[in-house]
Amino acid sequence: MQKVDEFIAMAKPLIDDDTIEEVVRVLKSGWIATGPVTREFEKKLSEYFGGRTVMCFSSATAGLHAALMAVGVGSGDEVITTPMTFAATANVIAMLGARPVFVDIDPGTINIDPSKVEVACTSKTKAIMPVHYAGLPVDMDPIFDIAARRNLRVIEDAAHATGSCYKNQKIGSFGDIQVFSFHPIKNMTSAEGGCVVLDSGAKNEQKILELQRFHGIDRSIWDRFSAKSSGFYDVVCPGFKSNMSDLQSAIGVHQLDAVDAMNERRRKLADRYRLAFADMFDHVHMQSVPDYSFVHSGHLFPLCVLDWTQRETFMEFMKNSSIGVTPYYAPVHLFTYYRRTFGYTEGDFPHAEYVGKRIVSIPLHTSLTEDAQDYVIETVRRFFYGNKNG
Ligand SMILES: *Cc1c(COP(=O)(O)O)cnc(C)c1O
Repeated sequence: MQKVDEFIAMAKPLIDDDTIEEVVRVLKSGWIATGPVTREFEKKLSEYFGGRTVMCFSSATAGLHAALMAVGVGSGDEVITTPMTFAATANVIAMLGARPVFVDIDPGTINIDPSKVEVACTSKTKAIMPVHYAGLPVDMDPIFDIAARRNLRVIEDAAHATGSCYKNQKIGSFGDIQVFSFHPIKNMTSAEGGCVVLDSGAKNEQKILELQRFHGIDRSIWDRFSAKSSGFYDVVCPGFKSNMSDLQSAIGVHQLDAVDAMNERRRKLADRYRLAFADMFDHVHMQSVPDYSFVHSGHLFPLCVLDWTQRETFMEFMKNSSIGVTPYYAPVHLFTYYRRTFGYTEGDFPHAEYVGKRIVSIPLHTSLTEDAQDYVIETVRRFFYGNKNG
């Protein structure tokens, strides 16, 4: 048995020396809040997403919130989303006084089941918020069809999907509005941060995003902080303070250069896992690979422990073996707030609940070595097969 001394984290950012030098350069420049480096980061992100408009935020959560405001979601509206996501996706809907209307997942892909979206639409539905779970793109064509027929907006929670492709098109390069996260756990990072991507022609939405990002002040942040700025400003609505700093952007610029190569590494490791667990279908299921063409960002590697009563002991076993695992995610509709406020309960979304009871994310990140991964694989097999090891 391979011995690995260090704790093997579930996720870990990879920060190179160039990034560190760039951060130091910005620190010494005398301009560390939003400024030229953030502008450059937005420009590079725009190139990455096929020339669409990109606006950086302090987090994806702030970006999702502002994006919902940009499409006019407010009190009494309904927004359709998946229960198998991080709390942020549904929280921002609730924060606006709207109702998160969950739609069950496809238990294979763990993504929202597009065939169940239309029946969930009512006259109050304003938007659909699909989540590309683990980096596997949602089957978007049926979602766009429904949205077009019913005049709904589609805001993709693409927190996991930097570099993912749907039918050979990069997520972020097509569609309505996409929101990416640069939290350190994600495929690329800016320490904290995120961005909203939308069409260059969507000027109204851009204006609302701009106002929400900076105090409702009707002037670009650049103008306000440039040497030419007069210092006068007007407030046209109440807004948040969710801009990205140049310090964060300095990290992001370098991460963006590396993200495709980092994702390639993730995919290679994910393929090794798939091969290693292929014979274990009596014990664990993996996220299924749909037959439409796509590129998976390899953000997470979830395993479903078929006998859910074994999940906790499995997680303990992994942790005791110095391997980081997390139950990403618990279905959002069963959290206290969502039960109490919206009346959701057990049995509402059987597939999400089935997966939610069984899911465990195992280590997948750019600096995971093949030796460390082999140790993870051996440990998983040892849990289910004992020393017989399968
Ligand atoms: C991480 C995450 C978010 C929030 O991202 P932040 O940048 O941390 O705000 C939103 N949705 C999903 C699915 C996430 O995993």
